[in-house]
Amino acid sequence: MPTPDSTDDLDVEVVRSARARRVAVRVDRVTGRVRVTLPERAAAAEADRALYRHRRWIAARLAEAAEIRAQVEARGDRLSVWGEELRLVEEPGRQRVHRRGDDLLVPPGGGPALERWLRAQARARLTPLTEQAAAALGRPLARVSIGDAKTRWGSCTAKGTITFSWRLVLAPPWVAEAIVWHEACHLVHLNHSTRFWTLLRRHEPRTDAARAWLRGSGATLVLPALAPTT
Ligand SMILES: [Zn+2]
Repeated sequence: MPTPDSTDDLDVEVVRSARARRVAVRVDRVTGRVRVTLPERAAAAEADRALYRHRRWIAARLAEAAEIRAQVEARGDRLSVWGEELRLVEEPGRQRVHRRGDDLLVPPGGGPALERWLRAQARARLTPLTEQAAAALGRPLARVSIGDAKTRWGSCTAKGTITFSWRLVLAPPWVAEAIVWHEACHLVHLNHSTRFWTLLRRHEPRTDAARAWLRGSGATLVLPALAPTT
């Protein structure tokens, strides 16, 4: 990890973007990889200047990312799925994920099969909850879809389609339930007005606690880094 006054040993990727209007620095919340986006015509040295200018902010983000990785690593082969602690067991030759008691049998490395299984779990848990919330609010729900967002846990369209990140299935159920209510209340108010928050807090008093939980721990809702197969 760099000291606040050094940007020498950073893992930096510099990209050019025709759409960028100014230099932007981003740090991945988990990997700690730094990305500098430069407008098409900016001098290359602008990237270094931006890294230097933001060095203290970058150091703080890197420390957070290291903490997230430490938390994910401490989990080892355990994965909490809708509040149940499962143990991941890699089986050579296995293609599909299969749950046996508290063991989750997965292909070596976990891979796309594990994510597919978790998406199905998310769909099975979140869909009926969303239907119930919509019914309680007396609003039609077009459909529930499952996406892969890392920080946008849910969204709702004017046509009544609600999308959740499958990663919510890795969060404590009460956190996921609070997001269900949040999106369902958007079926009534498609904005974050005072009336929206009043309605939401009446149905879901844990709203603020859930938002705080996701702010602090949302970045840990990632798959464990199982040993790659050789
Ligand atoms: Zn919202």
